[in-house]
Amino acid sequence: MRLVMKFGGTAVDSGKKIVHITNLIKSYHDKGNEIVAVFSAVTGMTDEILNVSGYVLKRDKKKISNFIDKTRAIHVDIIQNSIKDKNYRAKVLQVVEILLKEMENILNGIVLLSEVTQKALDHLLSFGERLLTPIISFCLLDKGIDSVYLTGQEVGILTDSKFGQARPLLDTTKIRVKYNIDPILRENKIPVITGFIGADQNGNITTMGRSGSDYTATIIAVCIDAHEVWLWTDVNGLMTADPCIVKEAKVLREVSFAEAIELSLFGAKYMHPRALEPVMDTMIPVRIRNAFNLSNEGTVISKNTSKSSQKIVKSIIAIRNTALIDVSGGGMVGAPGTAARIFDALAKKSVNIMMISQSPSESSISMVVKKADLDTAITTLDLTLIDKVIKNVKVNEDVAVIAVVGSGMRGIKGVAAKVFSSISKNNINVIMIAQGSSELNLAFVVNNRDCERAVKSVHDAFMLTKIN
Ligand code: ADP
Ligand code: ASP
Ligand code: MG
Repeated sequence: MRLVMKFGGTAVDSGKKIVHITNLIKSYHDKGNEIVAVFSAVTGMTDEILNVSGYVLKRDKKKISNFIDKTRAIHVDIIQNSIKDKNYRAKVLQVVEILLKEMENILNGIVLLSEVTQKALDHLLSFGERLLTPIISFCLLDKGIDSVYLTGQEVGILTDSKFGQARPLLDTTKIRVKYNIDPILRENKIPVITGFIGADQNGNITTMGRSGSDYTATIIAVCIDAHEVWLWTDVNGLMTADPCIVKEAKVLREVSFAEAIELSLFGAKYMHPRALEPVMDTMIPVRIRNAFNLSNEGTVISKNTSKSSQKIVKSIIAIRNTALIDVSGGGMVGAPGTAARIFDALAKKSVNIMMISQSPSESSISMVVKKADLDTAITTLDLTLIDKVIKNVKVNEDVAVIAVVGSGMRGIKGVAAKVFSSISKNNINVIMIAQGSSELNLAFVVNNRDCERAVKSVHDAFMLTKIN
């Protein structure tokens, strides 16, 4: 089989884990499979880079050298605990050193300007994955498997220039990626590719959004006609709830593309929201598996799921760090275009609205946004619309969205009743409700402090511990 295997940061945070993972890759390769490996950065690395870019703005040079030292220590430790051959070790240390120097130079350059553009940030973020892939590749060589390492740019992923949220230009990408990867596979080598990053038409490095390595894996899979995509992580698969909230959450055996997209859109952080787009219209299934528990088959996401897997509700998702904005004003009643003006103003400032609801009297509109977007949202509403379209803006900064997802909800009566009676039995106040017209999800907002109890009670009400 031709397999694209992606390994997330959670699966790679020590030399020991890398030995385990490269052995795992080797075992599938030894069985005669063609393997393309996609890696994200060492766990926490992307966050660290984002943090340091904040210090750069404060011209804190000491923080930069500390950061470079810490990054060096992490990667050197991994190299020493995963690669035995002294020659290979020396070579990869050299590669890492060159990358660290490049990163330090860029950071110091940014300090001078005291400004980090999204374009510069994408370049900086790319070092996370670029530091890890050579180590993996040399580790495979150490085990006697021929391997090469490539960046998303080198493999041929062409994107638009929307830095931070770039999208692949698939037609050109397909031609380039196939052209680059096919010969490597023919020579029985394993290409190790950086996830998350591509390049635009001018050769600038772009990133495709957080968790972008999942996206890289599916993009490559369609380009090279892979049989399957396997996303290796540290949990057994997609679950009926975040196991950190519901300890007895169960692994879902089968999930449709539509359901999985719904889950990822609702921000269950395990997958990039657009990761399934490239494979949706293909017969390429995506498996999510635990790299540290091979006996579990994991979750398979595919176009056609079996009848027995079509449950009413499959998963309860909690999205924290969200805020609720209520805008109101008598002038909104019966005034066509009010909602459009509000959403348009926010969209122009790139504020993503996660949920909307309007009272039937039309005198108020409630919106849920990520906390990170709250300041921009409020300033925009204040500057552009207050006293013109709206009168008051109220904010509740500490809410969580709970989404109940499952394709079996479509056309089934009583789902909402069951959800909300379980919530009210637990004395939890529901602040807002919305249902997508696809009826694949039902979402509601609660106070953040009630979030865990809400997830648990709906999980119980649908007896999701017995789903299999
Ligand atoms: P990776 O580094 O492999 O990309 P992520 O950290 O992006 O991994 O995602 C995996 C994590 O997602 C798990 O460790 C788990 O805590 C969390 N998670 C949240 N909701 C779910 C869910 N419904 N099913 C599975 N995992 C979930
Ligand atoms: N390293 C990137 C992130 O943390 C991409 C990924 O993990 O897929 O978002
Ligand atoms: Mg991820």
